[in-house]
Amino acid sequence: MIHNIARDVDAFTSNAFLVSPAARGDHGADGRTVLVDTGANFDAVSHLQGDVDHLDAVVITHTHPDHVGNVDAIRDRFDVETWGFDASHPAVDNRIDDGDVVRIGTDAFRALHTPGHAVDHLCLYDPDSGVLFAGDLVFAGGSFGRTDLPGGDGRTLVESIERVVEAVDETLQVLHTGHGPSVLDDPFGALEQSLQAARARA
Ligand SMILES: [Zn+2]
Repeated sequence: MIHNIARDVDAFTSNAFLVSPAARGDHGADGRTVLVDTGANFDAVSHLQGDVDHLDAVVITHTHPDHVGNVDAIRDRFDVETWGFDASHPAVDNRIDDGDVVRIGTDAFRALHTPGHAVDHLCLYDPDSGVLFAGDLVFAGGSFGRTDLPGGDGRTLVESIERVVEAVDETLQVLHTGHGPSVLDDPFGALEQSLQAARARA
């Protein structure tokens, strides 16, 4: 089960996806409860406490402040470590390398290093469930991550989107983005649309 705890928050924050192992049958206890990005500027701990009593891991798509602002509060309350591409950043305790497999919920996600919006940006894709966490690489409606922040680069962003389009295929079921709504209706088409738009501007 995937639930965006920042969904009703008005403050400047990224989405923050709480992934819990499906609570049905024998699979209920088998898996890891993981938060993908923490968001910022809202009381994530209170939101989380309503849903879970523990977290196994926090996975960070990239270390922009709107994605990691709640890291310290969540680390303190849940005694949990964080994982991301750049372990030299204070918000990241453990490194995820390109190609690493990360267990989130009951699924095995492959990490794709996808710079362009941020140098330490990761996407996470599970081919079995067809779920892609895209961070700020692309968004619904054919939009894509800004490249005017430090470390951003338009052509690198295009290459990263191309890489993700090649890694996934038409069986993609859902695209969870760092801001705005997730895409359930033709998420592969949405990715290609964002790629075209990013190419046109690069
Ligand atoms: Zn960002």
